[in-house]
Amino acid sequence: MRKRGAGLIAAMLLACTLLPGAAEAAARCRNTGSFERWLAEFKQEAAAQGISRQVIAATLDGVTFDPAIIRRDSGQGVFTQSFLQFAGRMTGGGRYQNGLKQLKAHARLFAAIEQRFGVPPAVVAALWGLESDYGAYKGANYNIIRSVATLAYDCRRPDFFRRQLLDALRIVERGDLRPEEMIGNWAGELGPTQFTPSDYYKHGVDFDRDGRVDMIRSVPDALASAANLMKSFGWQRGQPWLQEVRVPAEMPWHEADLAIQHPRAQWVRWGVRAAHGNLPADTLPASLILPMGRNGPAFLAYPNFKAYIEWNAAIVYSTTAAYFATRLAGAPPVGSGNGPVEVPNAQQVQELQRLLIARGFLSGEADGRLGAVTRAAVKQAQLKLGLPADSYPSPELTARLRGGR
Ligand code: CA
Repeated sequence: MRKRGAGLIAAMLLACTLLPGAAEAAARCRNTGSFERWLAEFKQEAAAQGISRQVIAATLDGVTFDPAIIRRDSGQGVFTQSFLQFAGRMTGGGRYQNGLKQLKAHARLFAAIEQRFGVPPAVVAALWGLESDYGAYKGANYNIIRSVATLAYDCRRPDFFRRQLLDALRIVERGDLRPEEMIGNWAGELGPTQFTPSDYYKHGVDFDRDGRVDMIRSVPDALASAANLMKSFGWQRGQPWLQEVRVPAEMPWHEADLAIQHPRAQWVRWGVRAAHGNLPADTLPASLILPMGRNGPAFLAYPNFKAYIEWNAAIVYSTTAAYFATRLAGAPPVGSGNGPVEVPNAQQVQELQRLLIARGFLSGEADGRLGAVTRAAVKQAQLKLGLPADSYPSPELTARLRGGR
C-alpha cells in the first residue's frame, strides 16, 4: 500500500475519531526476537543486496527502536470528513491564493517541468500545496532511518518498510542525502512533496543539476520529482484529469463508479452536463465520481485521474488533490450538488458496516471507515433493495437493512 500525504494529513488526523476496536485490530500481531538481532540480520541482507558496508555502518549503527512510532501508527483514527469538508479545509484559507502566487513566482520552473514530464503547473503546484503548504510546513522532526527501521521491524507491514529501508540506504549510497539529513514524517515521507524513500530513490530527479537529488532543500528537485512520479503513474501530456459536472435527477446511478468508464458522449446522453464551460459529446473515456452520493458534488474523472489514485489511494484525498489542481488551473469553486447530503459519522458507518456484514454484502471488520470496499458493499445492497445505487450510505439504507427488509 502506498502511504502518502502524511504530512499535513497526519496533522489533521489528530482531530479525528478513534473507534473502539480499531486500534486493537491494528496491534494484533506480535513481534518475537529483539530489535538488535533483527537489525543485525537486516544489515546482512542489505550487504547481500549490494549496499556498501560503509553506508550500512554509517546509516544503521546505533539505530534504536522507537516505540513512539508504533504508537503513532497504531493510533491512527478514523477519517470521517466528507469530501466538501475536507476539500474546503485543504483548499481554503490562503492555500488557493498562495498557490496562484507560487505558480507566478516559479513560472519558468513549472514550464520547464511541464515540458519535460508533461504534467501541468497547476497539478504539481496543487500537490506541493496539499503536501506541505508549498514547503512552509516542515513537518515532523523524525529521523527517517529510525522511523522506517522501527516500522520494518514491527510485525504489521514488515515487507513494505523493509523495502523502504533498503531504498533509504540506497539514497545515502547514491550521495543524495546524508543519514542525518533524512528528517521527515514519522512514517518515512521526505520533503515538501512527501516522498517515501522508495519513490525518492526510484523517481527522484536532480532537476537543478547539482549532482544529487535533494528533495528536502531543492524546490526544483522536489517539484520535478513529483511530476516524474505522476508520469510514472501514467500521466498523459495534454489530457484533462477531472471536470466538475452536474448530474440529472435520475440516471443509472450504478454507472457512477471509478471502475466504470464510458465515452463522454454516453454521459451526455444520460443528462450529465458541464458545471462550467462545455462537455463535448466525444469518445474520451471518463468515470463519473460522486464523492458524497447523487445529491452531492459530481465530477468526471479522466484517465489521468488514475495517477492521483496511485499518489494516494484515499479517494477523498485524491479527489481533493485533483480538484485543487483544477482550481489552480482556473476552475470555479465546487458546487454542493443537488441537495442536502446527510454525512454519516464514524459510529453510523460502523453500524451500517455491521448490517452489511450480517447480510453478506461485506466481509471483514466494521472499522467505521467509509472507504472503497464499504462503498462497493453499499452499492450491492442498494441494487438488491432497489434503491438508487450511488454507493453512498443513507439513513434509509441503514433503516432498510436494520428492518431486514
Ligand atoms: Ca539537485
